[in-house]
Amino acid sequence: MSPPLRWLFADQLGPAFDDGGEMVLIVSRRAFARRRMHRAKALIYLSAMLHRATHERVRLVMADTYREGLAEAAPDGSGSVEVIEPTSRPARALVRDLGVAVLPGRGFVTSQEEFAIWAEGRSRLLLEDYYRDVRRRTGILMTPTGEPEGGRWNFDADNRLPPPKAPDLGLHTWFPESDEVDAQARELLTRWQDQGWLTLRGVDGPRSFAVTRQEALAALDDFITHRLRLFGPYEDATLAGDWVMALSLLSVPLNLGLLHPGEVIDAVVEAHLADPVAAPLTGVEGFVRQVLGWREYVWHLYWWFGPDYATHNALSAEVDPPAWFDEARSDDVDAACLRHALAQTRDRGWSHHIVRLMVLANWALQRGYRPQAVNEWFVDMFVDGTAWVMPANVIGMGLFADGGQMATKPYAAGGAYLNRMTDFCRDCRYSPTVRVGPTACPFTAGYWWFLDRNEAALAGNHRLRNPYGTMRRLTDLAALVDQESGRAGPP
Ligand SMILES: Cc1cc2nc3c(=O)[nH]c(=O)nc-3n(C[C@H](O)[C@H](O)[C@H](O)COP(=O)(O)OP(=O)(O)OC[C@H]3O[C@@H](n4cnc5c(N)ncnc54)[C@H](O)[C@@H]3O)c2cc1C
Ligand code: SF4
Repeated sequence: MSPPLRWLFADQLGPAFDDGGEMVLIVSRRAFARRRMHRAKALIYLSAMLHRATHERVRLVMADTYREGLAEAAPDGSGSVEVIEPTSRPARALVRDLGVAVLPGRGFVTSQEEFAIWAEGRSRLLLEDYYRDVRRRTGILMTPTGEPEGGRWNFDADNRLPPPKAPDLGLHTWFPESDEVDAQARELLTRWQDQGWLTLRGVDGPRSFAVTRQEALAALDDFITHRLRLFGPYEDATLAGDWVMALSLLSVPLNLGLLHPGEVIDAVVEAHLADPVAAPLTGVEGFVRQVLGWREYVWHLYWWFGPDYATHNALSAEVDPPAWFDEARSDDVDAACLRHALAQTRDRGWSHHIVRLMVLANWALQRGYRPQAVNEWFVDMFVDGTAWVMPANVIGMGLFADGGQMATKPYAAGGAYLNRMTDFCRDCRYSPTVRVGPTACPFTAGYWWFLDRNEAALAGNHRLRNPYGTMRRLTDLAALVDQESGRAGPP
């Protein structure tokens, strides 16, 4: 009997998913047609698959549906096909329905079983607790006596500095060069749009993220060599003139499965051991926290919380995101931070995590946008958006729609925070310290309006005791509520 054919999903493109046999990738036109995604995202997925299919053991099948593609790839029937456990609920249901052999999942450092042991019986699943537990279990950045490397679990006191006064950090960033496979992918997308069954949004620009193994390794090496040094200090700061700052730009190759998170962590830790000046512990720990902490944590929460989690709406937020937000029409917006965030989303399908959390999600939270709509928006508009990554980040962290299952308080913030951690306010017609009037910052006013509107749901949260105390002393609260509730159109 011939060995099984390995069916690869588009997020299983790296060596961790290749055991040396024959493989097939199925491009399902229906899967592309189902969502109105960003052009840059459609290009990344299609180009990544076309690139992978240039390997002699990988075949590409284009079909209307996965079922039809599978029938073409395996005329002997699905019994001759195996697949590594896919990463979303619909895909897991599909492969079971199609009757292919399902191998245990790969692509993460920790297993669902390990997470379940940690999570069972806890009333709150806090990232910090989980991250420390994984560090202990894996020994990553731990001393032989079981202490965290450097004597501390985190280096926030040294990290998270405001941005420098300079217009950019001036750090080198490697970008991939578009090639003929990208051109082929673009041509296909254009043809599908012309045929009328594919609708895309956002602007098509140069491809900024790795879609092959070779490119992914180049991106990893570039980050370690040029930006890891400043990753810690500036991990939460952003500058209008520097979209990369000291970030890794590895979410796309990680989410495509081109890099395994374990190898990324090993490479960064090795860089630190080899040269602690070029790769200081502050940045290395900050980065390990992102990949071993946050990424694994949101992955597990997707499964742990179950399918209903994405339907939560604890703050009864019922506003549909307006067209200017949905279409990322930045030119309609005066508020410099939001204009910048929407422009970046429209032009790249990517933004800095502070822009995602403290501008885009913060705005949606303050304005009461419907969590499910916002969640879907992030999945479609971001090149690294996946079904599993978004619910914890958006429903939980960004919008507090889960009522605090993963965050101890909503990530709502006014202009003061943005003025400290970004330079957007310098070029804004609003002032971050003004609450009422023509120069009132819509984020500052929006913050108090959010607290006021949600007092019944949030006033009992002990972490909000001080903000509520301050709010009740605001003499202009009634005017502010009038102003914000009457706001029509973009700020
Ligand atoms: C509202 C919101 C939406 C987000 N949407 C996505 C998304 O669609 N896809 C996505 O991969 N990440 C998402 N994130 C997490 C994070 O913003 C991106 O992973 C990061 O900005 C990607 O840039 P980078 O690779 O340079 O990250 P770095 O800052 O260099 O971090 C290194 C890596 O850590 C991982 N990571 C860090 N934080 C998270 C997190 N909260 N969740 C999952 N992985 C994390 C990513 O793989 C990232 O590449 C979101 C965060 C928020 C707050
Ligand atoms: S003043 Fe307010 S709206 Fe303008 S950039 Fe700053 S935070 Fe954003």
